[in-house]
Parts: sequence; C-alpha cells; structure tokens
Amino acid sequence: MNICILIVDCLRADHLGCYGYHKNTSPNIDSIASQSVLFKNAYAQSNWTAPSFYSMIAGKYPPTLMINWMDQKINRDFVVLPEYLAEKGYLTGIFTPFKILLNPNAFSSHFTEAKELSLNEKALPEFREWIKKAKNSFLFFHTAEYVHEPYFADKQDVQMFLDKATSVPDNSEIVKILTSKHTKKTSIMDISRKINTHLKIPSKNEIKYLIACYDAGIYHIDRFVSDIHKVLQEESEDYLFMLIADHGQAFMEHNYIGHGIGLYNEVLQVPLVVDYNNSGSFQVPETVQLMDIFPTIIELLEYETDFKLDGQSFAQALKGQKLNNDRIAFADGSPRICVIKNNYKLLTTYLKYWDFKTYSKILQSHHRIRIRDLLGLITQFGREKLFDLRKNSGETNNISRQEKEIHKQLRAEIKNVLDDVLSEMRQSDEAPIDEDIKKQLEGLGYL
Ligand SMILES: [Zn+2]
Repeated sequence: MNICILIVDCLRADHLGCYGYHKNTSPNIDSIASQSVLFKNAYAQSNWTAPSFYSMIAGKYPPTLMINWMDQKINRDFVVLPEYLAEKGYLTGIFTPFKILLNPNAFSSHFTEAKELSLNEKALPEFREWIKKAKNSFLFFHTAEYVHEPYFADKQDVQMFLDKATSVPDNSEIVKILTSKHTKKTSIMDISRKINTHLKIPSKNEIKYLIACYDAGIYHIDRFVSDIHKVLQEESEDYLFMLIADHGQAFMEHNYIGHGIGLYNEVLQVPLVVDYNNSGSFQVPETVQLMDIFPTIIELLEYETDFKLDGQSFAQALKGQKLNNDRIAFADGSPRICVIKNNYKLLTTYLKYWDFKTYSKILQSHHRIRIRDLLGLITQFGREKLFDLRKNSGETNNISRQEKEIHKQLRAEIKNVLDDVLSEMRQSDEAPIDEDIKKQLEGLGYL
C-alpha cells in the first residue's frame, strides 16, 4: 500500500469549508472530504511541531518520549512507525522544508529517505517520482509555508478574504513581520513573544487582516493538496491518504498569537480527512487524536503486534462502523495539559497532579527552560478549567463548579494518562548537534 500522510503545518480545522468555515478557503479539500472520511473532532497531541510529530510516529503520549526538540531521537525502547514499516519491506520517507528535522541523527533518522522540499513547482513531480518508486511506501509529507507564519500568500488572494470593514493596515510592524516572505524567523519569534507577553497588543483590524492572509494561505495550498491526492490515486494500486495538521494557529482568541502556547482548540483541533482506497464517505463525530494513526495503519495492514501503543485505532471508522464514544484526546503544552472526552475539555497543568520533583523529569528533556514554562508554572495556582465544547466552542465559560461529576471523571482520565506516562517515561537518545544544525536552531531563535 502507498501511504501518504500530508501534514499542513498550523492548519486549524475550523478554517476549512468542510469543517464549517464560512469563507471559501478550501474548495478542493472540501471536495476530497465529501468523498472521504472526515473526523469532526480530531486533536493534535501538542500545540507545536516537535512533540506532535514524535508522538505521532511513536504512538505514545508526548511526555513519555521526553523529547522537546526536533534534533532528538526517540529512545530505542519504543517502536517507531516508519522503522516498523521499513522492517516489513516498506520504503519510508520524509519530505519537509524544515532543515532541523533533516538532521541525520534526529527526527529524520527514523525514516529511510529524507528530503528538503518546499512548496514550489518541483514538489508535485518529486511526489510522483516517490510514489512510482515502490508499491509499498510510507511518506510523511510535511508542508510549512503559506499557512505557517509568515503568511505570504498573494495580496490578490488576501483581498478575497478581507471583510469590507477591514482595511489594509499601513505601517504596522506586526503585519509587516508576519506577512513578508523573507522575514527572519527570529523577528517572528520576537514579535510573537511581545504579543504573547502582552508587551504589544495588536489592534482588531491588524488581527482581521492577518486572518485574511492566513486564509489566503489555505486557499493557496488547497489546490496543491488536491494535486497530491490525485497523483496518489493515479499511481497507486492500493493507497491510504491522510490530510492532517500538527497543530492549529491562534489569532488572539485567548490573548495568544501563533502556536506553542495555550491548549485551546484554535491550536489543538486539527483536520483529519482520510481516503482509504476510496472506501466511502463518512463523518465521524467521536474524539480521535493524531497518535491513533499508528495503530490504525497497523490494523489496516493486518499486522500482529506485541508492543503497547497509547493511541487507539480508528480503522473501523474508515469502513463506516461506529467508534466507541469513550475515546479521549490528551495534549501536552508543558506545563499545561488537557484532556477531551465527549466534547468536554479539562484544561489543567502537570503540577495539579505531580509534585515538582516528578514534573522536573519533563523539564530535563528541554534544552532550556523557556519563558512559557515559567509563565506556565504560575498557572498551577489558578483553577482548572472545564468547557462544554458543544455549547461553548469558544472556551470562555468555565463550568468546573457547575459540572462537578464531569470534572471528576476528566480528572480521573488525566490521572490514568499520567500514571501510564510515569511508568513508561524514557529519556530520548541524544543526537549530537552539528554546527549546521546549531546555526539553524539559532536562526529559529531556539538556542
Ligand atoms: Zn508545526
């Protein structure tokens, strides 16, 4: 089987037509979704790329892996999806524009082939060539332009998504930095940090304009997604296509911009559109999470396994069967965590469940303690927040005092997850950072 997981970095589910968005950002994706299986409540395991990616390919909760950066390797004690498939004779590969992921000793070391690939005219022929290489292949196809900041879609496209009341902000430093193709990553990190620590407050008009640029970015990649899907169909006897995102993107809904901070749904709820050999079109309301992809692929390929994964297969949903409604999603935005079950969401922190000594094991996996970790530590003194996502999708109304029984149930779910995590935590295998990678990390503002 040719398996292609297409990851659009930062693509939030609610900005796609097939997830109910009111603007026409995604006509082609909507068309694929109308003939595929659409998971209405799919969640990423984290609010930023690294933990989300590693968790996805290991089928494990992020803290279990004790990985916090893209230049680390998953501990050998765990089975990793691409390595597992390679042992079964699959050709495995990763395409990504992120050089950091291509460190041959780190994330990409779990794949047989790795290639730096940007969204340009070469991308589609490269993909066609890849698919033709083997009957059994697994491609982790990561795109991180247009929808990931800076949002540099064509200005004409941006006009299509501007409301009448929104003007093009003149002389806005925020807009200039976040929408220029050649902005340095460090400038993006700087301005986002200022906004997220409330040293700089964007105006409503600036935010609306940035959203129009983000939507135009989705519109730009929409055709590309459809082309990839078509090539996969044309060139494969047997295929599995998944469109996902590693996390979403915030636009000040909860006073944050970008990603990597907070665990509200704008950064956590992602698209999951699956076409398995054109096997039918269904909508799946039950909760699923990205680390469910690993066990799902194993079930579809009918392999027997003797190792434990934290995810749960959703393969039966691809055949039109109902999933159990007791499934949960857990996400890590260290030190924050959350769990979602039956459209209720509990937002809390590790320190409500663990003492500091236990929690510091997670901090050990960090290259450095960042501002958000320190800010997050303060949140332990705040109350846990419980939301009813059906009635309050904006997550503004904390109902933890009114819904004591549900609060108790979700606390028990988090406790189960964290007990599991604690019994299985393994330090990542450190990959030596070479000078090139170090420079790239510095460029991204990580070191
Ligand atoms: Zn990402």
